[in-house]
Amino acid sequence: MMKNKKGSHDLTRRQFLKLQTGGIAALAAMGGLPAGKVLAGSQSKPSSTRQAKNIIFMVSDGMSHGTLAMADQYRRLVENRPSNWMKLYDRPGTHRGLMDMASANNLVTDSSAASSSWGCGQRIPNGRMNVNANGKWLEPILPIAHRHGLRTGVVTTATVTHATPAGFVANGESRGAQEDFAVQYLERGIDVILGGGMRFFNPSQRRDGRDLYEEYAAKGYAYTGIRDELLALPPEQERILGLFTPWNLPYEIDRQNDSNQLTRVPSLAEMTDAALHHLSLGDNGFIVQIEGARIDHAAHRNDLSGLIFDQLAFDDAIEVALRFADKHPDTLIIVTSDHGNANPGLNTGPDQGEQQLGRLRNFKISLSQLSRDLRSIETPKTTNVKELIEARTGIALEPNHANMLVDRLKNEVPVHYNRMGSVNAVLGQILANFLEVGWVGNTHTSDYVELAAIGPGSERVKAFNRNTEMFTLMTRVLGLKT
Ligand SMILES: [Zn+2]
Repeated sequence: MMKNKKGSHDLTRRQFLKLQTGGIAALAAMGGLPAGKVLAGSQSKPSSTRQAKNIIFMVSDGMSHGTLAMADQYRRLVENRPSNWMKLYDRPGTHRGLMDMASANNLVTDSSAASSSWGCGQRIPNGRMNVNANGKWLEPILPIAHRHGLRTGVVTTATVTHATPAGFVANGESRGAQEDFAVQYLERGIDVILGGGMRFFNPSQRRDGRDLYEEYAAKGYAYTGIRDELLALPPEQERILGLFTPWNLPYEIDRQNDSNQLTRVPSLAEMTDAALHHLSLGDNGFIVQIEGARIDHAAHRNDLSGLIFDQLAFDDAIEVALRFADKHPDTLIIVTSDHGNANPGLNTGPDQGEQQLGRLRNFKISLSQLSRDLRSIETPKTTNVKELIEARTGIALEPNHANMLVDRLKNEVPVHYNRMGSVNAVLGQILANFLEVGWVGNTHTSDYVELAAIGPGSERVKAFNRNTEMFTLMTRVLGLKT
């Protein structure tokens, strides 16, 4: 038995598995932890110094500062109102700062190390899920909250077992172990699970052939795979597994422009509303992570329409959370991002507004999808490339721009910066001539991220924060013993 100096929060993998499967008695029988520590790691009640009943932790994944600014500017330009995120900064009682998201082995974090740092309070190496550099399994915050009788949930536009939601729930040597995480969610009692990722629950696609739909149903979960069903669930339903696509949910702009998707897949705001309602059924409060996951995916592809409309969908979810907190003032809301991505920014153009971001209002497609459509043209020519882009975006390329794209589709262009050589990146750069939005690369950045909080405990947010401090903040505010 390895010596454990840090108490039940800091377990070896073996101890952790025992705790998950055998509970307190099994852990005590192992004799590896002092009695007091065993109790601290077992079923418990929140401490009397608890500040908040509920925490809503919201993550815009891969949101650079430019993304936040442009979504706000677009909303003001086209909808005549500021973003909810910026409006939050005007609310009395909002605390705002920056956060250093470095991981244990890199200034530039990935999503699993980032979410784990919030989830378990330690920096871990990129790619792992709540397993630190010494191989210790660290109990994440949602199972800790569950042991204290709180209700727990994850909501995302990615697969529900993707790195960011899993960072609050799961343990694994690799973030890719999504089939394992789907089992851990069940074992660790996560009450509301909404997003994509049927593939990891489906017996015909899982390597072990387990039918997780059946196993979840046996534990009282209502399963839904369709938006209308989610919205029509009995109000008293406590446990919900809602999986709306085999993999990630579609980008918001693609969902909006496909009537089939629109009826089948809920928006992030709709999922948030449902989660908050069903999680608030208990007396003990809840903690939920809400993730706008595909802001990150769009940034990786220099996809401005994917990016801005998913950021706005996340912004709509903020409004839902604020409305909930208005009715339940014992709720702490935290809004942040896990890292920047590609650092897009609006540069000075020939005209204001309508000639730049305003042009996005005519887009009917994410540039990720447009790029796939371009790659599927059998014989790309200046004319068919130009036609396709104009039909889906309203932008009439100059022939020389269309030629550049044709050359890239035929693999005939030199690349200056390797990251910027993909069809997506070339398309993004060509459209920058019309939208004036440039990109510095196509992956995560080390930028300090935005952090805002409102509600009881939000005063603990400082001007400059370390990622691991979020774990301490959340456990103290909820009165959880770790
Ligand atoms: Zn991320």
